[in-house]
Amino acid sequence: MALHQCPPLGAIDQNLSIRPQFVQTGEIGEVPRYRLSRGELSPETAYQIIHDELMLDGNARLNLATFVTTWMEPQAERLMAECADKNMIDKDEYRQTAELEMRCVSMLAHLWGASDAQRATGCSTIGSSEACMLGGLALVRRWRERAKMAGRTAERPNLVMGANVQVCWDKFCRYWDIEPRQVPISHGRTHLTADPAVEACDENTIGVIAILGSTFDGSYEPVQEIATALDGLADDRGIDVPIHVDGASGGFVAPFLDPDLHWDFRLPRVQSINASGHKYGLVYPGVGWVVWRNQDALPDDLVFDVNYLGGNMPTFALNFSRPGAQVVVQYFNLLRLGWDGYRRVQQACRSTAQLLASQIAALGPFDLISDGSGIPAFAFRLNHQVEHYSVFDISEALRARGWLVPAYSFPPNLEDLTVLRIVVRNGFGQDLAHLFLEDLQRVVTQLAKGGRPAPEEQESGFNHC
Ligand SMILES: *Cc1c(COP(=O)(O)O)cnc(C)c1O
Repeated sequence: MALHQCPPLGAIDQNLSIRPQFVQTGEIGEVPRYRLSRGELSPETAYQIIHDELMLDGNARLNLATFVTTWMEPQAERLMAECADKNMIDKDEYRQTAELEMRCVSMLAHLWGASDAQRATGCSTIGSSEACMLGGLALVRRWRERAKMAGRTAERPNLVMGANVQVCWDKFCRYWDIEPRQVPISHGRTHLTADPAVEACDENTIGVIAILGSTFDGSYEPVQEIATALDGLADDRGIDVPIHVDGASGGFVAPFLDPDLHWDFRLPRVQSINASGHKYGLVYPGVGWVVWRNQDALPDDLVFDVNYLGGNMPTFALNFSRPGAQVVVQYFNLLRLGWDGYRRVQQACRSTAQLLASQIAALGPFDLISDGSGIPAFAFRLNHQVEHYSVFDISEALRARGWLVPAYSFPPNLEDLTVLRIVVRNGFGQDLAHLFLEDLQRVVTQLAKGGRPAPEEQESGFNHC
């Protein structure tokens, strides 16, 4: 859990200390671990202590659980270090950083099918979660305006989404008192589809969330079908429900790999889109983006003015201070890679995901839930012949080699579906995929024999540098 409580008194020895061990001048002594020490350490000693402790963290590159970028080009890393001290909110002091943010918004708006005439508007955020909150807030405001115009009371707003949504949407609903209408998923339908989405809508629906790249299995939700069905609802019953697309991952994948897929501002019903710059936008955490199709889609009263160049700069954000470096690196990636470069990177990820998925399917014990043809991530389950071990055992055993592969169950209605999921990112190429496949094969062979892979049977067990 991310909310850190102090270790309970008694459960942990509060007087535990840290004892530097490098036998250098000035290093003797101890400092408390859980309380601020009275004295100082030299920066070298403090650095070494922390560096050493962090060796126990998992290796980020072998973390096949995360969607978040774990490899960047050295030039991007250099820019990030150069800009580490810039606060994004200081638009006046860091005018060029603010300018680069605006260029990113403009590039994304075009990439997502906004026409020049529409005057799309948007901003950077700390990640997709904040971007989703902002997208959701605009939906509530606009629903209130619609209700007022129609002379209805605006009291019980609801938001329609699949039960497979990322937790940020539950959060949005709870924090802002919106009724979450989660459309159940079922076997063979692991995400939101058009008919049940429309059935869940009424005049109090602020919007429908369509996910481009479900976190559970990587599949794209059918945004165009949902939009068409909502057009039908507007024609038949006069209920006009906008769509926000949660393109946390897919927003940086579909434009390059599936340019003919209509999921974005080319669909008039899509009012806003979010994406995580730190997922397939290829930036280290944390940066996200939210773009509205035009200025009408973002109610004025949500926008605050900050002082900028003696004039006013409109901002819309939950945070005030926020790092500027990630925004700069987002611009670096867009500038450096261009459309061809992003396509090359994302295609390499998709090819690796699809190849690895097919190889895992061929191993025997597994059935694929998805195959990497949406975002470059896929989920797979153990088939019914396997009785003596679970996906949780596999996940645990893979850790012995450093691979972090999450095992989890699906949301309500499909809780019996337990899967492993692999996210292929830039930097996880076919060589690493091959090494992973060998380890997975070794693990299932051992587990089938009723045991865990013994350490001595693992290659190079001593060489985890
Ligand atoms: C990752 C993700 C989020 C949350 O994004 P952060 O950038 O981690 O805040 C929201 N929705 C979907 C579909 C995601 O994949």
